[in-house]
Amino acid sequence: AMRYFPFFFDLRGVRVLIVGGGAVAARKAEILARARAKIRVVAPKISPQLAQIVRQNDGQLRQRHYRKTDLRHCRVAVCAAGIPALNQRVRKDSAAAAVPLNVVDQPKLCDFIFPAFADRNPVCVAVSSGGASPVLARNLRNKMEAELPAQLGKLANFCEKHREQVRQKLPEKVRRRFWESILDKSPAASALLNGREARADKLLAESLNQFAAQFGDGKNPVGEVFIIGAGPGDPELMTFKGRRLLQKADAVFYDRLVSREILDLARRDAEKILVGKTRARKVCTQEEINAALVRRARDGELVARLKGGDPFIFGRGGEEAEALAQAGVPFQVVPGITAATGCAAFAGIPLTHRGVARAVRLETAYREDMMSPERWQRLAADREATLVFYMSGAVLSALADNLILGGKSPRESVAVISAGTTSAQKVIRGNLQNITARAKDHAFSPALVIIGEVAKENSALQWFAGHAEAEAPFSQIA
Ligand code: SAH
Repeated sequence: AMRYFPFFFDLRGVRVLIVGGGAVAARKAEILARARAKIRVVAPKISPQLAQIVRQNDGQLRQRHYRKTDLRHCRVAVCAAGIPALNQRVRKDSAAAAVPLNVVDQPKLCDFIFPAFADRNPVCVAVSSGGASPVLARNLRNKMEAELPAQLGKLANFCEKHREQVRQKLPEKVRRRFWESILDKSPAASALLNGREARADKLLAESLNQFAAQFGDGKNPVGEVFIIGAGPGDPELMTFKGRRLLQKADAVFYDRLVSREILDLARRDAEKILVGKTRARKVCTQEEINAALVRRARDGELVARLKGGDPFIFGRGGEEAEALAQAGVPFQVVPGITAATGCAAFAGIPLTHRGVARAVRLETAYREDMMSPERWQRLAADREATLVFYMSGAVLSALADNLILGGKSPRESVAVISAGTTSAQKVIRGNLQNITARAKDHAFSPALVIIGEVAKENSALQWFAGHAEAEAPFSQIA
């Protein structure tokens, strides 16, 4: 659950009590004054700086000890006196009066906490570490300060100025796209940021007329589908392009393999639809998925089809692309890091390696009937290639037996990697003969099987050599 909820509070004209008269109180008064709060300060000694801030802001100074009645007419209170007994008193009184209170540096006594923020009025980006580490929150704030253009507030005001006009000319569905086109490095935005507001107005009006001609009055915008590879698990392994398109989507169709963190990159208001399949249970059929993608895109939506790993590697992305092409729906395919390369990197296994493996074969054997004896023999005979099996964790023993029957050495190295690249990654090593026994007490999901010389314990690459199971991702030494 969320520890603190981030509201943005309209404090204009709202009476706020500050208990305390020193430097800490002055800092709070200063930021509260920015939001035009009506400040009341009570303290036996009030510093000149604080007094000045309050006077400039038309506030009240009560130079004496705190009394319960100071809370009267206040809707928010801050205790910045730093005196434990006083903190407790104000805490009790404000609770009785139902006035939200912040006691500086005493998270346990607080109803609300002050975030670190970057102010580009009217835009404000605020960060909180939930009281856990104010320094961390401030670091993040500093990063944002550096990222946010100084003129951001101007841009927001510009949008506000034109909002009504846009509402009148464009149907709801198209409005967001219009604004995105304006905000995403449009000539109008750059004119504005360069201080040429009249020109910006003109460019926006032109662009609005174009949109209205294209999409106004019931004409549907053309939708598009983005078939996006989400990578093997670690959200940082997704591509920039995948991220960018995901953030544009009105609806997101995702698989079970896609992590929460990646899904959270989508817009909050985007509809998120789980269409995952497992061996045990189908949420919906491939045909239903294809049909839904086509229908939504025809309806003008931007749809992200988010898949684990790479969409075109055991992902049925090819079928979806075919269905879209047949229906004449525009689409893009964004590749992802496939489980084989992701897991291999994090387990310290080079899939090709000079003098050891010249090729990689990506395979699957999740249904035994997919694999005839001849095929096993051919796989076993390929001594140059590393074999990588997808969707085969549950048939590990059949896989190992068949390869031995097909002619592979029982000593051939095997690594089974589950939840690769995530903090739950597990790597189990062994050979074709003993891997089934070694793996039998572990639950795998999802799991990938890598077979070949490169999967052997390699002390130079596996710094944790000797552990059958790696808790830490290999990348930590990178
Ligand atoms: N398109 C995906 C594969 C989908 S098939 C890709 O390119 O990676 C699902 C299989 O992928 C799983 O059964 C498992 O074999 C493998 N897989 C996906 N993510 C994995 C991970 N993080 N760790 C181990 N195996 C994974």
